[in-house]
Amino acid sequence: MTMTFEYTPAPESRAIVTIKPKYGHFISGKFVTGAKHFPTINPATEEVLSQIALGGKADVDAAVKAARKAYTNTWSKISGKERGKYLYRIARIMQERAREFAVLETLDNGKPIRESRDTDIPLAAAHFFYHAGWADKLEYAGLGTSPKPLGVAGQIIPWNFPLLMLAWKVAPALAAGNTVVLKPAESTPLTALLFAEVCQQAELPVGVVNIVTGDGSTGALIVNHPGIDKIAFTGSTEVGKIIARAVAPTNKSVTLELGGKAANIVFDDAPIDETVEGIVNGIFFNQGHVCCAGSRLLLQENIAEEVLHKLKNRMEKIRVGDPMDKNTDVGAINSKEQLAKIIELAAVGDSEGAERWSPACNLPSKGFWFAPTIFTGVTQAHRIAREEIFGPVLSVLTFRTPAEAIEKANNTPFGLSAGIWSEKGSRTLWASQQLRAGVIWANTFNKFDPTSPFGGYKESGWGREGGRHGLSAYLKGVSNE
Ligand code: NDP
Repeated sequence: MTMTFEYTPAPESRAIVTIKPKYGHFISGKFVTGAKHFPTINPATEEVLSQIALGGKADVDAAVKAARKAYTNTWSKISGKERGKYLYRIARIMQERAREFAVLETLDNGKPIRESRDTDIPLAAAHFFYHAGWADKLEYAGLGTSPKPLGVAGQIIPWNFPLLMLAWKVAPALAAGNTVVLKPAESTPLTALLFAEVCQQAELPVGVVNIVTGDGSTGALIVNHPGIDKIAFTGSTEVGKIIARAVAPTNKSVTLELGGKAANIVFDDAPIDETVEGIVNGIFFNQGHVCCAGSRLLLQENIAEEVLHKLKNRMEKIRVGDPMDKNTDVGAINSKEQLAKIIELAAVGDSEGAERWSPACNLPSKGFWFAPTIFTGVTQAHRIAREEIFGPVLSVLTFRTPAEAIEKANNTPFGLSAGIWSEKGSRTLWASQQLRAGVIWANTFNKFDPTSPFGGYKESGWGREGGRHGLSAYLKGVSNE
């Protein structure tokens, strides 16, 4: 018999953050007033948190000009050791203000405070620490004897890991000697604006980091700006393709980190209880708003029933609700639009004949919510097995032989990540060599580290971020594959 204890609410206080009623862009070290504004809301309550400037042509021009000036006059002139000092300073301030960042991220994004506190913010600081260490050692990174920066980088990031994606972009760019113009996602700009304050606090030379807020049209202005040398983008494959077309006839370097539909493969010798934890973490972490989420579960047929039984039991215990409660496992869906997309694709799953199951859960009446869901009886032809749902929805398929598992896993236009669950090292190594995925986890899932390159094959994007490979994407004449 198992006993379940009820959890008493453990809400995190929001008193630590000060959100201004209105924000401008951060250009040349100062906040400048925008012409038009749009609201950013808390997706868990629909409360308007602040009004955000909508960047237009003049704002992007001013930001690119500031970044160019800082590149030419300051950042490309100082030594790597000096650049490293600023990056260490930024990393330390992020750690000092970690709680503030975590609360703000959760309010603006809807992710559980436990995740922003324990994953997003520490990893973002770790990216700055790691790259600070490279700034004065670029000559020894195996990327040529005299590596040179590219110049001004335009960086466009999504809403699923707002501060962490900023860190993935800004830290290597600055370490390698570039300056940046960054656009956060429309629905999650607040931690990027707090980061701008950190740049001021660290006395980073003005213009090295510029932040222009806005929507997709602002992103397009950055992509098409002639004063930019490199575009780094994370987001949908659809927008990635638009960007690839836009930069193809130019001299701009580009890295694209796009969608995924990762196979999480469970062989019949896997440790089932650990595997169930890994399956839950793989798809329900961050509400499934994860490009490398383990969204296709491939179960060996002879253990499928047992795994599904244990998985459903485990899912009954997932706590969905107030993201500011420290007990919460799954928070709010980031936006009304994303919720509509998840609902639509789940309905396609129903109509194509897959079987839907969710645990009973009381979803809050305000805000955007979707219960953790699994679909069984999914075949490769189903849209829910092929398209990125980007929500807490798992498609379950089965296989009989290891060869069939690989065949099914690779049968996707994407190739970002994969998971293998098996107690046999030889089988794990064999499978990892067959899988066409940039990141492969064995007996774990969704593990990230700044030293480890991240990126995909096929429609999952171009280039790598993190590690030495990621650094090379911000240096001249070095291949990023
Ligand atoms: P987008 O690809 O539209 O957004 C990513 C970033 O690009 C945002 O900053 C966005 O701005 C900006 N952007 C939008 N259009 C353009 C453009 N034409 N040129 C330059 N920049 C642009 O993703 P969505 O937010 O619309 O999400 C849609 C789907 O994409 C999701 O359902 C999910 O499947 C997938 N996705 C994948 C991610 C990943 O990590 N692989 C991350 C996010 C989404 P703005 O936010 O203001 O629109």
